[in-house]
Amino acid sequence: MAKVTVRHLDELGRIVIPQAIRTNLAWKNRTQIDVCEQDGKVILSTHSKSCLFCGGTEGLCQFAGKDICQDCLNELKKIES
Ligand SMILES: [Zn+2]
Repeated sequence: MAKVTVRHLDELGRIVIPQAIRTNLAWKNRTQIDVCEQDGKVILSTHSKSCLFCGGTEGLCQFAGKDICQDCLNELKKIES
C-alpha cells in the first residue's frame, strides 16, 4: 500500500505535496497539475494536453491559443462555412 502522509488544507484550500512525491514525479515550480475528483478521492496528475472540446490527445494543434484536435477543428470548419 502507498505511504500516506497527513497534510492540512490551509484557509485557501491549498496543501503542500510532499517533496519526495514531487521529486518522483518530476514536478517543479509552476508544473501544471490536473486535479479531478473521483469516487470521493482527489486525483492529481501531471497535466497532459488535450482537446478543448472532446478531451482527445491525438493530432493536437493550437487554435486561438487553445489545444484542439484535428477532428474537432474540421467540425468547426464545417460550421463556419
Ligand atoms: Zn477534439
